[in-house]
Amino acid sequence: MKRYTDISLKPYNTFGIDVRAKCMLQYDSVQELQHIISHREEMLAEPILHIGSGSNLLFLDDFPGTILFSNIRHLDIVSEDDESLTVNVGAGMVMDDFIALCVGRGWYGLENLSLIPGQVGASAVQNIGAYGVEAADHIVAVHCVSLHDGSLRVFSNAECNYSYRHSIFKEPGTRGNYAVVSVDYRLDKSFVPRLDYGGIRSALQAETPLTAQNLRDTIIDIRRQKLPDPQVLGNAGSFFMNPIIPKAQFEELRQRYPDIPSYAVDEDRIKVPAGWMIEKCGWKGRSMGNAAVHDRQALVLVNKGGATGADIVNLCEAVREAVRETFGITISPEVNFI
Ligand SMILES: Cc1cc2nc3c(=O)[nH]c(=O)nc-3n(C[C@H](O)[C@H](O)[C@H](O)COP(=O)(O)OP(=O)(O)OC[C@H]3O[C@@H](n4cnc5c(N)ncnc54)[C@H](O)[C@@H]3O)c2cc1C
Repeated sequence: MKRYTDISLKPYNTFGIDVRAKCMLQYDSVQELQHIISHREEMLAEPILHIGSGSNLLFLDDFPGTILFSNIRHLDIVSEDDESLTVNVGAGMVMDDFIALCVGRGWYGLENLSLIPGQVGASAVQNIGAYGVEAADHIVAVHCVSLHDGSLRVFSNAECNYSYRHSIFKEPGTRGNYAVVSVDYRLDKSFVPRLDYGGIRSALQAETPLTAQNLRDTIIDIRRQKLPDPQVLGNAGSFFMNPIIPKAQFEELRQRYPDIPSYAVDEDRIKVPAGWMIEKCGWKGRSMGNAAVHDRQALVLVNKGGATGADIVNLCEAVREAVRETFGITISPEVNFI
């Protein structure tokens, strides 16, 4: 276990916001975490926040309590048959390292999530998704420790209440109550590529055989072209969620904007890309102080250097207002404000 006091969180959030935390505890095992919880009064300054790689966080201020960080990084096979296997993965493992390992071993299904930043634990909290695949499609169970009494609890996939970028771990009443310590992921032994999203099919090199590794490499290339590298330009990926609207509202919008892109969610609901609307409002590439809308991907807000959380929030509000005025749709941040 490592304990730090009055620590800068700049290296712990991909926005690169320069705030400090009163305390940070990095633990290496479930038992260590349970020990910390059972000695809560001596060991923890309140409030408590569990973070992963900080790639979906926006710190608005110094954090007055304790940041928890997991270094649990095991990978164990739980069960296996001819078609699939289930692995239990430590929450502190970097998700993309896990995906690389799966692809290397011939365990398939997560290729489309390649290069999404963050840890395995957060993948289950956030229900990460890209190119037509969501973590929830492959999560069997999420193993947690209660931050109140240190007890273990396993949430089945159904209990996680997954939907688009949503889980029970984000809901009032559960949010902030659990540390995810490991996740059971089910992988397939046969490779069934999903190519129908985001230009994957056209980006795949025609001459190369379609393997999971090639698909992963292609997705990594596309992402590197489209998204800013947080090491170079602070950001948290898509800042806003793509709104889901009733079909009737979408049809009205299509009268005014015949080129509006869309994805059917079900018979009655349509998902509209927030980035397209932000671009239509003329915000792509525009700055407010040290914060800006990225010039290649309007869904991403960036820290041009020295931005505070408040700078990013001001920009966020200006963009939301523009979209509301133009399209009559309220877009919501995907990023967690702390
Ligand atoms: C360049 C870039 C591209 C991105 N692209 C995508 C994308 O394509 N698709 C997508 O879905 N997301 C994307 N994201 C967002 C981000 O990668 C995901 O939300 C990711 O799951 C966050 O992981 P993290 O470890 O950084 O979690 P953090 O940002 O540290 O935390 C996120 C949330 O999870 C909670 N949490 C983290 N770990 C634990 C734990 N062990 N126990 C309990 N709670 C925990 C935190 O309290 C917080 O509420 C992108 C981000 C960036 C910077």
